[in-house]
Amino acid sequence: MDLLEGLNPEQHDAVTFGEGPLLIVAGVGTGKTTVITRRIAWLIAEKKARPAEILALTFTEKAAAEMEERVDLLVPYGYIEAQIGTFHAFCDRLLRENAILLGLTPDYRILTSAEQAIFLKDHLFELPLERFRPLGNPIRNLSAILTLFSRAKDEDVTSDEYQKYVGRIEGESPSEEESEAHAETVNEQRELAESYAAYQRLLLENGYVDFGDLITLALKLLREHPSVLARYQARFRYILVDEFQDTNYAQFELLKLLALDRNLTVCGDDDQSIYKFRGAAISNILGFQKAYPDAKLVVLDQNYRSTQSILDAAYRLIQNNNPDRLEVRADIPKRLRSSSGQGDPPHQSHFETLAEECDFVAETIRERRSEEKLAYADFAILVRSNAQATPFLRSLNLLKIPWRFSGSRGLYDQEEVRTAIALLRVLADPRDSLSLHYLAGSSLYGIAGEDLALATSFARRRNKSLLEVLRIIVRSSDGLGVRRESRDHVATLLEHLSTVFPLTATEPTGEILYRYLSTITGSIGRLSNSEDLRDAQRVQNLAKLFAIIERFSQVARYDRVRWFVDYLDALIEAGDNPPVGDATWDADAVHVLTIHQAKGLEFPIVFLVGLLSGRFPSTHRRDPIPLPDALVKDLAGSDDSHRQEERRLFYVGLTRAKDAVYLTSAQDYGGKRPRKPSLFVSETLALDASKLVPQRRSPLAAILRHSIAEETARTPEEAEPTLFPIGDPILTLSHRQIDDYLTCPLKYRYIHVLRVPIRQHHAVIYGNAVHQAIRLFNLNRLAERDTSIEDLHESFRKHWRAEGFLTRHHEELRLEEGLKALVAFREYEVAEGRRPTHVEQRFSVVDEDIRLVGFFDRIDIVEGAGTVIDYKTSEVHTQEQADRRTKESRQLAIYALAYQHLFEKLPEKLELRFLTPNVIVGTTSPTKKRLEKARGEIEQAAAGIRAAAFPGEPVYRACRYCPYAGICPSKRSD
Ligand code: ATP
Ligand code: MG
Repeated sequence: MDLLEGLNPEQHDAVTFGEGPLLIVAGVGTGKTTVITRRIAWLIAEKKARPAEILALTFTEKAAAEMEERVDLLVPYGYIEAQIGTFHAFCDRLLRENAILLGLTPDYRILTSAEQAIFLKDHLFELPLERFRPLGNPIRNLSAILTLFSRAKDEDVTSDEYQKYVGRIEGESPSEEESEAHAETVNEQRELAESYAAYQRLLLENGYVDFGDLITLALKLLREHPSVLARYQARFRYILVDEFQDTNYAQFELLKLLALDRNLTVCGDDDQSIYKFRGAAISNILGFQKAYPDAKLVVLDQNYRSTQSILDAAYRLIQNNNPDRLEVRADIPKRLRSSSGQGDPPHQSHFETLAEECDFVAETIRERRSEEKLAYADFAILVRSNAQATPFLRSLNLLKIPWRFSGSRGLYDQEEVRTAIALLRVLADPRDSLSLHYLAGSSLYGIAGEDLALATSFARRRNKSLLEVLRIIVRSSDGLGVRRESRDHVATLLEHLSTVFPLTATEPTGEILYRYLSTITGSIGRLSNSEDLRDAQRVQNLAKLFAIIERFSQVARYDRVRWFVDYLDALIEAGDNPPVGDATWDADAVHVLTIHQAKGLEFPIVFLVGLLSGRFPSTHRRDPIPLPDALVKDLAGSDDSHRQEERRLFYVGLTRAKDAVYLTSAQDYGGKRPRKPSLFVSETLALDASKLVPQRRSPLAAILRHSIAEETARTPEEAEPTLFPIGDPILTLSHRQIDDYLTCPLKYRYIHVLRVPIRQHHAVIYGNAVHQAIRLFNLNRLAERDTSIEDLHESFRKHWRAEGFLTRHHEELRLEEGLKALVAFREYEVAEGRRPTHVEQRFSVVDEDIRLVGFFDRIDIVEGAGTVIDYKTSEVHTQEQADRRTKESRQLAIYALAYQHLFEKLPEKLELRFLTPNVIVGTTSPTKKRLEKARGEIEQAAAGIRAAAFPGEPVYRACRYCPYAGICPSKRSD
């Protein structure tokens, strides 16, 4: 494909720009991301840079995925070594490669924000806090303190710098009347600065980093270790950054350090800045011009997304941010020309009630879809915050319109998850009658409400727990008046509980829950084999709960149910609310998402809803403990910065639309006074929104609504999910997926579609722990550092988990074996003495409509001859066995194909290194026949997966090793 095809002259200039700093400032939808991705491809294709010399960064995961995908298509032979991702992911890799230099362990853990709150709470009394930790309510300022630390990190303010600042203000001499207030401020700031230092120290001691640390520690690394800096500077000759307006001060510092050759390309649009501290929207872009006064400036003004009417309306709105815009400050024109005609101006509708507003949106979608032959996926409903979506989803349900809500939070509220949690709570505290009540009434036991009420009231009168009363019910002859049928269910419940109770003393949480849901109640099997797609979602939700337990078990000193319940409570208290499973939703569905999430995306028809004054712009909340102004390095926005930021958000929302925008609101949102439409509606349409009179919908519509509601009312959770995702024309596959599909399509469905939770097999735990140690060794090797056997063993132990082993003795033997295997491994590698060329390298290659992805454990290239190496912990006994396994390895054959794409020739050798615990190395060369076969296998798997054909058809003897045999209806016993 011609990489320059279709570009306009300015885009062409930017893509083919030579060396030096390049600043692309351009309005929305003018092809900024297009330019960045084509430039990457062009640099590679023209051999201006080797892929390894390219670093491309952006702000959010979503944007990074989008960028990666576009480059995948443009560089079909792959770009193995180019690093494309978010700032955080890049810094994470940087830190892991050099952790030791910072006194960090390489397998440090990144805390989620909920875990950060838990961590701070656990260590609250180890911090030198006083006034910010009132003893009457010590946790009152917890989140404010965390926000302060994170702000400091955004601004590249270390705890040292913070303390120096305190020293500075201490030395000031205030006037007499100010002196008391001044002393107070100094004390407060000292307390905060010292707590900041203590917090950082505690994190380090525990092997944790928080999100902000990823950037600041990377900066520290590069500043304090010139040789490391020099290495990365030499490596990344071209650096490209998309969404530059959103990068914070610390991230920009990082870029300046790395870009020694000054080949730095950045794209930004100040009018779309919605993530910056204190609304400092234009500071980075101005800062770029200051840091690189000779930067070439490219301005794009041709918009390829929206109609002229939409662009004009958006422009009218955003001018209200003047003069704090680059158009005014730096004379960069932002009035855009559309390439898709005039179109209609935004539609505006104000209603009496929220229900009418919602119905209007749903009906408009239904009508336009059928009249204009559109797909559901052509419509997007954008909300200011997730909480606003529910009534709109309900209206879509009424008209049976499928939707996909990316903000579907509320994992903990799903019935199956609540039931599982209720069980864990009962196990943690048998007197927790509330949870037992929930469990008893759940679909697992279905004990009737009135019988439970009877039992509860008996419990209350006798001052007994519900559990005790249930026992009495089963034992007593009259069952306390509980019906026969319910009594049987109670008996089953008690029997189940008595099976799991004894396990709580010895078994980890995941194991107990797993046994309960699989062998004891059979619910995982039932849900996994159900035809009902809602059950598929339920399995996924349970899998997510297991993932949370898994995370817990990695940090917990004791992984027992009681502690897990504490942890879960702390998570919930810290506001953790994970999304529910989503893989079963139809690709053709109306998109419902927040404007923040919609950034960078486009849709033919967009509804901006709930546009009320007081809600959009949202009311401004200042940080309760603000970072002192003197420490803020970015140019702060004006006093009006909150409203300006909200206006930019509105602007982002408007400009997602290609053909049409609807702006809707209603005056009755359940409050006392009628609500007015948002100020931004007035600004967009140049009308006085406060004078708008609500539209009345015919009373008939309201009546109709109620009658439909009676018949078909469903909550959003009950909406009918449809088929599997089918939208993406390119299918992404890993060798694991191919392998699983060819082993048994049903197994593939369990693992990759439903993600059915399973108990970790001990071999997996063993393999992972060994692998982590090997990875440490090889990464160090890459950086020309040795790894001592003690460090290898420590890493191995750290990743060890006491799960799935048959007995304690079995576990000990296996642990011994692993330690031995690592000794042998290290001896072998040291003796061999070859430095790897690549370690843990992700690859992604596209061949027609299939994208193959995976990780190379290791690649060695010596004088142009490549060896692909994979480490295995499965058992082989002889050299012949090892050679045969290597020759037959489907994984290696697939990797050889990927290698060929990437390096334009085949690898010379393929190796499996078995650690058994001695090292036995199987070697082979890729043969034409084996590669042909692998190609056929990839195609066969792809065809089956595309057709969503998942019959239970295991290959010979596969069932014996299948972790799903316990729940599988097609299991064969050959
Ligand atoms: P945003 O400001 O929302 O991030 P952007 O400036 O990054 O947008 P892109 O997403 O790269 O813009 O492009 C917007 C749309 O315009 C895309 O659909 C893209 O394919 C299309 N486009 C970009 N350049 C051209 C061109 N020269 N000819 C035709 N279409 C183009
Ligand atoms: Mg973009």
